[in-house]
This record gives sequence, structure tokens and C-alpha cells, in this order.
Amino acid sequence: MTATGRVRAPWTGSCRRCLEPVTGVVEARVREVFERHPVEGETYRLVGDEVDLEPLVRDAVLLSLPLAPLCSEACRGPAPDLFPARVADDSDAGQVDRDDAAPAPVHDPRWAALDELRFD
Ligand SMILES: [Zn+2]
Repeated sequence: MTATGRVRAPWTGSCRRCLEPVTGVVEARVREVFERHPVEGETYRLVGDEVDLEPLVRDAVLLSLPLAPLCSEACRGPAPDLFPARVADDSDAGQVDRDDAAPAPVHDPRWAALDELRFD
């Protein structure tokens, strides 16, 4: 038996920069097979002639949730004056590198080991 449909769920989280609450709605299309002897990680269990959609919905929602939500792309963090989320502009600095749409990430040498991580 195959269950096909759309899963839609509201979510609440914290902004990864300022920690203010963020809300949104995830939507996922599902098409999953239910069978009496499910294959781990591939199909879902069919008990009698009833389909339990809960595990399917849980998996679909978890996979669709944003990993690190932002309240807005322009979020400057909890205290932008004390802890700027971008390199401060020095008016007398000769280098001109101002891209307001996508500020360059500040490189912290303490996290340099993370640069080696690769995700496929
Ligand atoms: Zn924020």
C-alpha cells in the first residue's frame, strides 16, 4: 500500500543569531510504501489493514525543518553594537569590500578545524 500526499506543519524555533523566536511552515510531499514486513529506513509497517501515518509525518517534517533558522536575512544578532556579526567598516581602511546583501563571514581561528569538515 502506498500513501501519497502533502504534509504541512507549523514550526517554532530560535533565530540562530539573535535567539528571538522564529516561526514558519514546512511543507513536504510524501509518497511512502506501507507493508507487513517493512524494510528498515525504506518502508513503513502496515498493521492489519490500518496505516499509522504518524512515523511518516514525523520523518517528513523533521527532514524539512530548517537546521538553523534566521528571523530575517538582515538579522544582526542580539547586540550588534557590542558583537557585530560582520567585520566593522573602518572608514580609513583602504580595502573596499562592501556587499550589504551577503556580508563575508568573520573567520575565527578557534574554529579552524571545522574548515576541514566536508558534507556530501
Ligand atoms: Zn535574528
